Amino acid sequence: MWFYETLYPDIKIGIKGKLLHKKKTAYQDLRIYKTPRFGNMLTLDGTIQTTTKDEFIYHEMLTHPVLLAHLRPQKILVIGAGDGGVLREVLKHKVKEAYIVEIDDEVIQTSKRYLPSISNGAFAKGKRVKIIIDDGARFIKDIKEKFDIVIVDSPDPLGAAKALFSKKFYQNIFSILKDGGIMIRQAGSTVLQADELKQNYRILKQIFPYVSVQLAAIPTYIGGLFSFLIGSKRINPEAVSYKKIEQRYNKLRLKTRYYNPQIHFASLSLPNYVRSLVR
Ligand code: SAM
Repeated sequence: MWFYETLYPDIKIGIKGKLLHKKKTAYQDLRIYKTPRFGNMLTLDGTIQTTTKDEFIYHEMLTHPVLLAHLRPQKILVIGAGDGGVLREVLKHKVKEAYIVEIDDEVIQTSKRYLPSISNGAFAKGKRVKIIIDDGARFIKDIKEKFDIVIVDSPDPLGAAKALFSKKFYQNIFSILKDGGIMIRQAGSTVLQADELKQNYRILKQIFPYVSVQLAAIPTYIGGLFSFLIGSKRINPEAVSYKKIEQRYNKLRLKTRYYNPQIHFASLSLPNYVRSLVR
């Protein structure tokens, strides 16, 4: 059968596959497809979330740039990310605690069953991992603890994820980040979601002294270059030296398939159309 993504009314991308699992959860329509070209694929409300073939690009870019820009990240908060890919990459660092706040436990349980290579056992990594089933926006409003890094791996600003794109949400992230804290979030396609990128960049600029854009192309996320937005309280991500990033990358002997110190800086170099978007 064919899966057709329904994110845009005037664009139809189809991927051939076999439906392995479908469930209407309390929050969304969750499906798993087995596809010949992209492996197993998770969709939520008709939108591709991740595939076992190309997830590494997205998950490595949402994790390593900020964890290596930070001097000594110890306490990490991940919001969303129920497939476990971000958690897998975070645990490659010498972090003490990694919280994951996911609103829908069905995503975690289904991903463990049909996409085991993505979490790769990260959910069961003992005391370092704290799994919390809750709305990320509500969780950060009430929590008293402080974090070094906050990673927001949410779907697009629809349904339960809408609250994860508000100014109030970013202000709450600012207040739960320690002095040298850094946050990162996916901000969509630089072509098809240009307004979303622009708007979120502008909101972050009102809250964080340093805001940067990083880019990567993810084959199953339509729309060419995909963006990540970084907000930082004290460290300017664009001023951390190549030497420092390389030292930290080598010291951890990080096993990565996409990310490396050159990519770190290449992904911060913006084409003119993105520069004018965020200027
Ligand atoms: N990489 C994907 C993308 O860019 O579209 C996102 C993948 S990840 C599976 C998204 C997760 O965010 C989903 O598991 C969804 O249940 C979760 N989520 C949505 N809204 C949330 C909220 N308000 N709080 C916490 N998690 C949320």
